[in-house]
This record gives sequence, C-alpha cells and structure tokens, in this order.
Amino acid sequence: MTSAEPSEFQGKHITVAGLGVSGISAARALAGLGASVTVVDGGDSEAHRERAVPLEKDGISVRLGDAVTLPEGTDLVVTSPGWKPESPLFAAAAQAGVDVVGDVEIAWRLRGPDAAAWLAITGTNGKTTTTQMLASILRAAGLRTAAVGNIGTPIIDVILGEETHDVLAVELSSYQLHWAPSLRAHSAAVLNLAPDHLDWHGSMEAYAADKGRIYEGNQVACVYNVADRATENLVREADVEEGCRAIGFTLGTPGPSELGVVDGILVDRAFVADRQKQAQELAEVSDVNPPAPHNIANALAAAALARAYGVEPAAVRDGLRNFQPDAHRIAHVADVAGVAYIDDSKATNTHAAEASLAAYESIVWIAGGLAKGATFDELVQKSAKRLRGAVLIGADRALIREALARHAPEVPVVDLERTDTGAMSAAVQEAARLAEPGDTVLMAPACASMDMFTNYNKRGEAFADAVRALGAERP
Ligand code: ADP
Repeated sequence: MTSAEPSEFQGKHITVAGLGVSGISAARALAGLGASVTVVDGGDSEAHRERAVPLEKDGISVRLGDAVTLPEGTDLVVTSPGWKPESPLFAAAAQAGVDVVGDVEIAWRLRGPDAAAWLAITGTNGKTTTTQMLASILRAAGLRTAAVGNIGTPIIDVILGEETHDVLAVELSSYQLHWAPSLRAHSAAVLNLAPDHLDWHGSMEAYAADKGRIYEGNQVACVYNVADRATENLVREADVEEGCRAIGFTLGTPGPSELGVVDGILVDRAFVADRQKQAQELAEVSDVNPPAPHNIANALAAAALARAYGVEPAAVRDGLRNFQPDAHRIAHVADVAGVAYIDDSKATNTHAAEASLAAYESIVWIAGGLAKGATFDELVQKSAKRLRGAVLIGADRALIREALARHAPEVPVVDLERTDTGAMSAAVQEAARLAEPGDTVLMAPACASMDMFTNYNKRGEAFADAVRALGAERP
C-alpha cells in the first residue's frame, strides 16, 4: 500500500493495549495512517512515562495506570501478546460491540491489491526454524521474500515498508492467530501440537483451536504432520478454498500427497504430475542443518509450503543448504575430551527437549528451570535409555528429579541447589565428570530460564562460556 491510498483506519479512534515493543509499533503505524491512537497500559512507572514521551510528541495519546476502562469513542482495539483474552479491556470492548484484533490482523487488512502471498507457519515448536528455512528456500528460488510475523521486524512495519515482496514466510504464534480472524493464507503448516501456554489460552482445546485458524481459507495447501494426528484433525475441521489440498509430511516413506524420507533423501509425492507412481527428489538429509529428526521434519514442512507455491526442487535443496539456524537451537559449542557440548537453550518446554534428546545416543542431560506447569514423566520415559546422567538446575528441578527416580532410577543425577551466576559452570563441570568419550552433553532444559537468567539467550551464553572454560582447562 502507498501512503496516497487511504486505509480503513484513517480517522478511526483506535485503542492499543500495552506500551511494549509491539504496542508501540502498532500505535506508530496506525497514527501514520491517520488514525487517532490511544495507548493504554496498567503500569505507571518512571520507565512507562519515559516511553510515553516520544509517542505523545508525535500526537499519540498514552493513558497509564488503567488497563481496564475502554476509552470513550473507541472504534477498534489492538492487542499485545502479553494480554490474556479475558483481559477486562477486551471484555469491555466486546460489551460495547467494538472489534479486538492483533498486529497480524492489521497487517493482513493493510495489504494492497498486488500484495505478496502469505505462507504461514505455526506449531508448538520449530516455528522460527521452519520459517527461516522457508525464507531461505524462497530466496534460493529467486523470489523477493522475508521471514516475518512472530520474528524480526514487526509485521505491520514490513507490510507498510518500502520493500516489495513476492511472497512472505510468516511465523504465527497462537496468540497472533487468536486475534487474526480474517487471515487467509495461500498455504499454511501446523508443525506439531503439544501443551504449552495453557495459562494464556485456558485449555488445550482452546490452544489447538487457535492454532487451527491458520488453515482457515487456505487456497493451495494445508500442510500437517503425519506423526501428529492432532494437526491432521485441524486440517479436517478447517474451511478452505475449493481445490485446496491436505499435504502430510513424515520422517518415513511418504504416501501419495505426502513429503517424506527415503534412503536419506527428502522426497515429494505431493507436488508431482502423478502422485500414485511418482516421487520427486528434493534434497539429501545431510543438506539439513542440523540433521536431527525434528529438524528434518521442519525442513519437510518448509519444503511442502515452498512446493505449494511452485518452487522448483533444486531451490529447495539450495535453500536448505544455505540455511543457518539461530543461536541456542541445538548449537554445537565445542568438543572437549571427546565429548560434544550442545546448547539447546531454546528447548523451553518438554516437547522441544524430547525432540533434541531423540537426536543423540548417549547423553548427559542438563535440565531444569521454570516448569510452567509441565510434567516430566513422559519425557523421561521416552528418553531414559539415552541418558548417561543428568544434572539438574533451577527452581523446579525437583519435578525432573522425581520423574527420573520413577522412570530411570539407574541414571546418576546431580542436583545443583545453587542458583548464583556460577551455577551453570558448576553444572557443566558436573556434566563433564559424568560424560565419557563419545557422549553428548546436551543442555535442553525443558523449562523456561527466567528463574536464573534474563532469557534463554543468556542461559545459552552461560553454558557456552562454561564449556569454553572447560576446554581451556582440559582440551
Ligand atoms: P519456536 O519458534 O516454535 O519456538 P524454534 O525453531 O525456535 O521454535 O525451536 C525451538 C526449540 O524447539 C528448538 O531449540 C528445539 O529444541 C525444538 N524444536 C525445533 N523444531 C522442533 C520440532 N519440529 N519438534 C519438536 N521440537 C522442535
């Protein structure tokens, strides 16, 4: 859209919830489109007031200390990710018959007539990785693209920006989907579904329903995970455009209308002329970085979306080869004394940790932190046979210790009580003591980091520092 075209937001009174990064971005964008914007936030600290000043200078009203009352005359409310659906402000809006939407909905409505197609991705784990893989494949195909959504530059800024795109790789969180009722993607994938963020959604059903919205109105393909029946059920429940196909991805041999793996090759039996008889080679498993099973699944999902958009097989291979994962996602830090040290600090829930534990044979596992209501029995049961030992850290480590005692009593466990800044280096030293040459020390905590660290990045950095110190000590 160019600034010459008036948008549906011009002259509207819009209330933006939350003076955070996404709230500020939405407020500025909407004010730039001629809306009269008020940002509301329950906080009223020095920091809040400082953040308000530049907005107010630009004609945006900021109301602090009240997150409840709907400002008089509001035509539309824009949410921020931290706000729960039952927040009183949204209830007040519903009561007044005022629409409540998120940043993705605004971005969707702002697309111009020749807008880029959206290839959308959600799931409990693997969203960012798959979205970046997809963008890499699209780039390799010579398309103008960007990875957007729950990633990088706020999506409204991308849509309003100068750059033109042919197609966008869009990562969507369940929050964003909840508040994006009119989104209709070209094609979309749900990678997997496991309990997470239930405190926000209220129940697993509500969480799944929000994820499932990504398939609504799809035009070409709904991509699901053959190994995760819940994702296929969501496809079945979705209302899609005539002719839109359900496409599965699997780590096994693919059936018709599926992508899968045969003898170390990623193959496509969906986007070929005769899917009963034909299979198209896309890439080798070794083209996927790292080639851990869950990441091959991510690559297949990305490939399915790219193929749905018409990308040639060679570009799938080149895009996967060019792809570098973000930090703290199964990152190999170093080998010390014949032991590999892997940082998967981003494994902040049990489903993610299970995937990375499945990628190694003999593991000393560093785990623990904030459990967010999770239980660890299933994870420990599934992973027990791979564990050489475990080192537990953080606030909820007793939950993991108890699960280990129940299902893997023979596995030696070190329970680290300390939570000071040196705790991670103590954990790494204990892990090094338990490990034998050929083993992997894997920090995939299955928990959030905020009890001991600012975020998962800091936790990963602490681990990497400790490993490097260990390497200097005993190379
Ligand atoms: P998200 O954006 O959904 O949080 P990321 O791509 O950042 O996902 O990966 C987060 C973590 O989830 C990774 O560190 C890895 O442990 C795990 N993971 C990645 N892909 C998958 C998958 N397909 N299934 C299960 N776990 C995965």
